[in-house]
Amino acid sequence: MKTTDYIERSESSILHTYNRYQIVLEKGEGVYLYDVDDKKYLDFAAGIAVNALGYHHPVYTKTLQDQAARLTHISNLYYNTPMMEAGEKVLKASGMARVFFTNSGAEAIEGALKAAKKYAFRRDGHAGHSIIAMEHSFHGRTVGALSVTGNAHYREPFEPLMGGVRFAKFNDPDSVRSLVDDTVCAVILETIQGEGGIYPADQKFLEDLRSLCDEHDILLILDEIQCGMGRTGHPFAWQEYGVQPDIMTCAKALGNGIPVGAFVLGEKASSASLEPGDHGTTYGGNPLACAAVSAVFDIYEQEQIIGHVRKLAPYLEEQLEALIRDYPCIKARRGKGFMQGLVVEDHPVSAIINRALENGLLIISAGTNVLRLVPPLIIERQHIDEMIEKLRMSLDQTL
Ligand SMILES: *Cc1c(COP(=O)(O)O)cnc(C)c1O
Repeated sequence: MKTTDYIERSESSILHTYNRYQIVLEKGEGVYLYDVDDKKYLDFAAGIAVNALGYHHPVYTKTLQDQAARLTHISNLYYNTPMMEAGEKVLKASGMARVFFTNSGAEAIEGALKAAKKYAFRRDGHAGHSIIAMEHSFHGRTVGALSVTGNAHYREPFEPLMGGVRFAKFNDPDSVRSLVDDTVCAVILETIQGEGGIYPADQKFLEDLRSLCDEHDILLILDEIQCGMGRTGHPFAWQEYGVQPDIMTCAKALGNGIPVGAFVLGEKASSASLEPGDHGTTYGGNPLACAAVSAVFDIYEQEQIIGHVRKLAPYLEEQLEALIRDYPCIKARRGKGFMQGLVVEDHPVSAIINRALENGLLIISAGTNVLRLVPPLIIERQHIDEMIEKLRMSLDQTL
């Protein structure tokens, strides 16, 4: 069958909610993907910051195979050992107190919001609390997560959403402060805004939010779904800032491709929020998902993945900075570690991305005019060189 036939067949059954790139991917090896015609692509998208260990990692694959043969699902009515192990590893990496495993990022956000509401309910003895979120944020597509997503285009058709959400300006402490009153139970933000266009939080902004939240007994929720799991050269991006959240959300690279997320609570939030009966999930944290999480942490440790990111990121940044000098339409670079964005002006990023695709390079966009680079964390120097070469070729052909 031809690629166009596969695409036509897919479109006749799958609800059209994505304008997909016109390729059909079949297999992966390391940092490369192959389509059904065996065309090879260098992957700097990683399934949107998911496949940190690339494709067909031997230890990861073997772990999933073994776990699938043993047990994939039992429900949360019983204990299972992969969940115990995965839980311990999340807490060791984060220094936090308790974790709840979900099936996705959006579900992790839902859980975090519920935990914050319950915390305030127990604090005040009544419901009706509000939440401060950020403009240009992205937290997911379910109704609760959408309610705190600062993009009117995503939200509008689905109004009314969850009430009591106020939007502040990212990196503007005063704009957050001006929205605080005694109804607020949480401030939620991405440590580095991803979908919105790769905007890292300022050091002072996070520090101010931490003290503002402490002053008013408000929970600070940091969404680490995209920027966490080593992508910035730290297990979680907030660790570089030294500002610990009360609740953190995690997903994407957490399972390296198995659908799994988590919300992770510090001592205060875990001891005074959700209680038995308050929250649940049928699949969340099942043995297969948790075996994946556990393997991811083990492999990170064995292969020193985070140290590798730290060591190689300056080289990536250097190469991207050189593009700013050589191409007038590339105005700026933003990001940390292996979460980088290039700001493009006067040319549609989609044209560059499509050209890159033809040249065998997968990159994606963020916001309206940002080229986003979120490669597998296992890339080596030669992959950065190959990416730059293909990106330069694509830019030369597009502009
Ligand atoms: C991807 C993402 C989500 C949503 O995760 P899903 O698994 O798609 O539900 C939430 N927050 C951030 C920062 C994300 O990047």
